Amino acid sequence: MHLTPGADAGAIRAAIDRVIARGWFILGPELTAFETEFAQASGAAYAVGVGTGTDAIALALRALGIGPGDEVITAPLSAAYSALAIMMAGATPVFADIDINRLTLDPAQVDALVTPRTAAILPVHLYGQPADMTAIAAIARRHNLVIVEDASQAHLAKSEGRPVGTIGVAGAFSFYPTKNLGALGDAGGIVTDDAALADKLRRLRNGGQKDRYHHLEFGVNTRLDEMQAAILRERLALLPGWTDRRREIAARYRSALVGAPVIVPPEKDPGHVYHLFPVRSAHRDQVQAHLRHNGIETLIHYPVPIPRQPALDGIPTATCPVADRVCSEVFSLPLYPALTNDEVDRVADAVHRFSAADADGR
Ligand SMILES: *Cc1c(COP(=O)(O)O)cnc(C)c1O
Repeated sequence: MHLTPGADAGAIRAAIDRVIARGWFILGPELTAFETEFAQASGAAYAVGVGTGTDAIALALRALGIGPGDEVITAPLSAAYSALAIMMAGATPVFADIDINRLTLDPAQVDALVTPRTAAILPVHLYGQPADMTAIAAIARRHNLVIVEDASQAHLAKSEGRPVGTIGVAGAFSFYPTKNLGALGDAGGIVTDDAALADKLRRLRNGGQKDRYHHLEFGVNTRLDEMQAAILRERLALLPGWTDRRREIAARYRSALVGAPVIVPPEKDPGHVYHLFPVRSAHRDQVQAHLRHNGIETLIHYPVPIPRQPALDGIPTATCPVADRVCSEVFSLPLYPALTNDEVDRVADAVHRFSAADADGR
């Protein structure tokens, strides 16, 4: 699969050799260059590299002064790290239910949950599809809230033509190996157009130091290292092509799955970058078993709504019936740039051959 260096293996080995030869491993020229290149690719003025996507979210919130006593409205359907990052900043996640078609924050639900304690909205551009940012930005303006975007699954995605991560005051990205832009280890980054915020983030990721050994504020230690930055630079150059291929595969699935016994969530924005290709079925376990029987592995993103995770016990939450339902029905068909058209057709054919009646009778 694409996780192991493929066509880019030579470039990646050369990048690693370059870092070893230089002997500079933390906060060096590869990171500076990657930050410039990633900011440019993302349509933002600044990018700040950190250790993980989770740290990117938590640090962005902290840099904005969001912490204990503050509520941050976010989505119940996401990687749990979205909410854990809010908790790392000391704030409280508040879960607004999702839209059944878009599978991202439902703006009406967000609006209903704003309280005097609400400080921020953290929309998640889940599966590569931007959340409804026009409506969410209007709510934020009306209540004077900041928006931090969780763009961990949405590198190069656009919301009604605007690059994700630049609509709110900051956007957080993960470069975990399976993401659309992935390192060969953990890595993350924050984009922003705010120069003062970028400066603060650079200090906070490095122990709050202004100069070496002079710690001005309570920072943490979360830096994107030179080796990963060098690897990410090589892969960033390939990302537009990979993104085109993801969109091609998604379009092929969409036409091949017409009439198939699964629900294919609609594309609500052509700026979707198809990190994943989720489909839904009330017979999920049987469909997955049928596909496995045909040599096709599928994964569930995500089986448990975040507010139902034991890690969030004690945080009072409204019920999110749509997220509950989606978590019980959703699974992801294979989608990565190296997937061939024949493989896509084979997956779609296998889905068409599923019959709930046969599965029940097995
Ligand atoms: C991957 C991911 C994260 C966490 O990123 P890490 O780099 O693994 O810490 C957060 N939110 C979403 C939506 C993700 O997909």
